[in-house]
Amino acid sequence: MSRITTKSLRLPKRSVRAEHLGYFRFGRIGKHVVLTNDAGEWSQLTPGEFDAFLMGNVEDGHPRFEELRERGFLRADLDLDDMARKIRRKRRYLGHGPHLAVLITTLRCNQSCAYCHASRTDMHRTDTDMSLETARLAVDHAMKTPSPYLCFEYQGGEPTVNFDVLKFCVEYSRERNKQEGKTLDHSVVTNMTYMNQERADWLVANKVLVCTSLDGPESVHNANRPWTGKKAAAYESVVGWMKYFNNKYVEQGLDPELWHVDALMTSTKRSLKAGNQIVDLYVDLGIRNIHIRPLNPFGFATKTWRAIGYSMEEWLGYYERTLDYIIELNKQGVQIMEGTAATFLKKMLTPDDPNFVDIRTPVGSGTGQICYGFDGSIFPSDEGRMVHGMGDSIFKIGDVYNTSFEEAVNHPTVRSIATASYLDTLPMCATCWNAPYCGVRPLHNYMQFGDLFAQRPLTGKCQQHMGIVGLLFKRLANDPDGAVASIFRRWTIDRPRLADET
Ligand code: SF4
Repeated sequence: MSRITTKSLRLPKRSVRAEHLGYFRFGRIGKHVVLTNDAGEWSQLTPGEFDAFLMGNVEDGHPRFEELRERGFLRADLDLDDMARKIRRKRRYLGHGPHLAVLITTLRCNQSCAYCHASRTDMHRTDTDMSLETARLAVDHAMKTPSPYLCFEYQGGEPTVNFDVLKFCVEYSRERNKQEGKTLDHSVVTNMTYMNQERADWLVANKVLVCTSLDGPESVHNANRPWTGKKAAAYESVVGWMKYFNNKYVEQGLDPELWHVDALMTSTKRSLKAGNQIVDLYVDLGIRNIHIRPLNPFGFATKTWRAIGYSMEEWLGYYERTLDYIIELNKQGVQIMEGTAATFLKKMLTPDDPNFVDIRTPVGSGTGQICYGFDGSIFPSDEGRMVHGMGDSIFKIGDVYNTSFEEAVNHPTVRSIATASYLDTLPMCATCWNAPYCGVRPLHNYMQFGDLFAQRPLTGKCQQHMGIVGLLFKRLANDPDGAVASIFRRWTIDRPRLADET
């Protein structure tokens, strides 16, 4: 995405009438110049309108005057208190503390995915299971968060392999919450290969949210996610269990719009030609939200990159084709949204920030989420645990036996990560038009470039975020009947699905 300067617009510097202008960032997207500000407001101008704006010629009576004034881009009637209120609302998550506690119940897993990041171990390695005592201390630790909402997310390995510990955490935290009075959610991220009826029924009865991985049609899913010792059965299992869960929710009288298995997909080289089929599969299974995620170039993926990897440019081309297909389906009345686009759209089209820990400033590692390893080690996020699993403990911030919650979240490593992801102070990001919507990943930077900061434009996340948000602006700019804007607005609507209010 090229940046524009007064030079590239052929405007002599003295023509810019700064005294007429509010505070804004800008960049060229397609045929338009987009203006953004810290409150997340934006406007798209033609180059001619942008010239007029810079030269102070957008005045009362100009067709864009009211819009630019209301959004704070003009100095005329600029209400700084109102702007401050909007920014405060957008950054409301600051000071809330972690609302996501990732618990690694085991590293054991019966799949061996081509891109695994989870430092998995084989099924006989019971020494990588979390003990009940460690689980109790981890729950106690996480519940010290000042956040009034807390989601326990069970991960692995395959977390259901250590089901007794998962059950214990759900029951024990609910018992403890009778004193704490938080809003609690529980979510298990499972590959479904260790699911059985007893476990499934317990999860449904106890309203534990279920999220799985489904990379696409059978040939794509089974190639990406081989099930050790059971060739070609992973797809059948995951689809079968998704249907089982979804039927059970209906039987229990739960609203299927709110209660259904969520699925995540990771794109490998095989996915790039199968975007539409992947979306069709999700629609057939009744899934309303698909996250088209790129591979992360670390974990097992570094070894398999030549076979499964691609450039970010190739991925963005595939993302654009698939997003357009999803928009087309929506125009035909099919309800499905793309998850990353929806996260950005909430920032662009609503007064709130969705507080998605991976795309915010500062990033949520240690300030929005916290991760407990199977042995009680504490990390700012699951990626920190992964780096530890690879033999580098730089992101370990304590353990549940010796480290208080306050010590963990105030750890110098958490502060460094926050500093390295605070966009207002980062060269390039501070002046980037995408800063109000973006978020950087210092732990990714560390894994790829060896330092927390890296040079953002060289990172995959910068290219991905700029590409996606640029695409959303382009689709909004080329929307004569307002159909795309109305679909995008629908994607920003959240209905609460509270599993446990005790
Ligand atoms: S990471 Fe890239 S897209 Fe995001 S704010 Fe920084 S420069 Fe802009």
